[in-house]
Amino acid sequence: MREQTIGGPIEFTGVGLHTGENATVRILPAPAGKGIIFRRVDLDNFELRADVASVARVAYATTLMSRGVWISTVEHLLSALYGMGIDNAYVELDNFEVPILDGSAIPYTEAISRIGLVRQQRNKQFIRITKEFVLKDGAKKLGIYPAETFSIQYDINFPHPLIGKQSLRVPLTGSNYAEAIAPARTFGFYNEVEQLQSAGLVRGGSLENAIVLTETGMLNDTSLRFKDEFVRHKILDLLGDFALIGQPVLGRLVADRAGHALHTRFVAELLESPTHWVVDTLAAAPVSAR
Ligand SMILES: [Zn+2]
Repeated sequence: MREQTIGGPIEFTGVGLHTGENATVRILPAPAGKGIIFRRVDLDNFELRADVASVARVAYATTLMSRGVWISTVEHLLSALYGMGIDNAYVELDNFEVPILDGSAIPYTEAISRIGLVRQQRNKQFIRITKEFVLKDGAKKLGIYPAETFSIQYDINFPHPLIGKQSLRVPLTGSNYAEAIAPARTFGFYNEVEQLQSAGLVRGGSLENAIVLTETGMLNDTSLRFKDEFVRHKILDLLGDFALIGQPVLGRLVADRAGHALHTRFVAELLESPTHWVVDTLAAAPVSAR
């Protein structure tokens, strides 16, 4: 299996969920072996690699930072690139925060599907999980287990009539990401909006880019895209944070009520635990000694 990049540039303009500021993001082809590189075009094309070493802040969104330059709310964009199997791309941004668009990853996946992918002259380097790796934080739990393909299972439990207990396992192969995960939107609770806004958050939030839950239902007058849209969005977010591993993975990822902080800590600690994985190009049949 070869590395892939995007077939040509795609561009999106919109408001940032937390800053409320407008930004334009362009995704462009990049050479094999490059990874995902953000460029702040408003700051002399300052480059910032999408990897776990760049994670700066993880409250309510994932923010990357290098030498004082920030890029905020990267998780939906990174989720789409990882979910669509893009290994290399430049992501140009003219502001601090990636636009939230409709709160899901579907604008990205539709545009990527239209423009297509290009196979490159380099074998994909998979991280193959060889021994389970589990992190817990109170009731939150995140683990990865050996498997021949990549899949995510997520369990959530919110005391809300539209949510409650939701559990879903999705093999991230073929078109599953684009169909089952990408359309799921961000959600938040109306009674937290004021408090979040006074903390400088969700200033760009609206019914156009989030499901806003009241005590008994939701403010949006559209219907849910899936009955379990909430757990699907948690999978979307987890994949966006997991993308910071920088390589495709062979393993079964299982999350129970996790969040951005545990997701990113998990990626960092997994990478620092090389007795739990090997790098594999799938170029030859797996050796039985593994
Ligand atoms: Zn999200």
